[in-house]
Amino acid sequence: MSALSKTDLKKNLSKINVAFFTGLHLAAALAFLPQFFSWSAVAVMFFLYWVTASLGICLGFHRYLTHRSFELPKYVGYFFALCGTLACQNGPTKWVAQHRMHHASSDTPMDPHSMLYGFYWSHFGWMIYRNHYDDPQKIIAHSKDLQGDRFYKFLDNNFLKLQGVLALILFAMGGWSFVIWGIFVRMVIGYHSTWFVNSAAHLWGYRNVKLKDDLSTNCWWVGLIAWGEGWHNNHHAFPSSARHGLRPWEIDLTWAAIWVLKTLGLAKNIKVAKLQRDEDRENKFFSGVIVKKAA
Ligand SMILES: [Zn+2]
Ligand SMILES: [Zn+2]
Repeated sequence: MSALSKTDLKKNLSKINVAFFTGLHLAAALAFLPQFFSWSAVAVMFFLYWVTASLGICLGFHRYLTHRSFELPKYVGYFFALCGTLACQNGPTKWVAQHRMHHASSDTPMDPHSMLYGFYWSHFGWMIYRNHYDDPQKIIAHSKDLQGDRFYKFLDNNFLKLQGVLALILFAMGGWSFVIWGIFVRMVIGYHSTWFVNSAAHLWGYRNVKLKDDLSTNCWWVGLIAWGEGWHNNHHAFPSSARHGLRPWEIDLTWAAIWVLKTLGLAKNIKVAKLQRDEDRENKFFSGVIVKKAA
């Protein structure tokens, strides 16, 4: 396929998505008004950020559903998929399919958020235009293992309504300050932390593993804010590894949650990458192997 120009990619603007993201950021800005501030609302925001982003997106949608890095009992898997759906980054099917497209064609024109088109495109721009990565047939082709599951279908069809239900629960618990911090601020922080994996972790940082035609990097601050997903060069090198932080300082809080699931006997057949220093000491890069940890 010939390279798509940026003009080609910008033909079909989604006004709904522009309105959604703009409205969301404006609603989050209400948090600056003193009448909406409370420490309990901030605590709710942090708790839901962990539940929806780390347990939901990183553990559920990414490491479990997209890459099948470990196995979970069916209903435990459903729980983490529900947490991921509450991050409001689409339901599981579209998320998984688009992420598989990213790995299948990283940093090429067919990558949904290719760094070839710059920081803005890979961070955010790709989501406000409709392109090949929104094609329903292509999404089905990249999510065959999720097709036919009625619970995932339910999450796909109702991800916005479920956010509304969560907002109502928060309103009942703590009024508007809980809604503004627990929904709007948490979603903006969760969105940008995920988006920085697509942008910053394909642009800034170091590499443990040299990969051909792949710009992924380990970016320390993305590693911290995105619950371990910023060790993204490790992840591109070993996509099936449940653990992304592979060196002592590469803190991976999502791996900590998987480790707890393993200790509880819930996560099984966990695949983990181990880095190996090449014989050639001049070479600063590592190679590695995937080892299986049967729980
Ligand atoms: Zn990537
Ligand atoms: Zn991935």
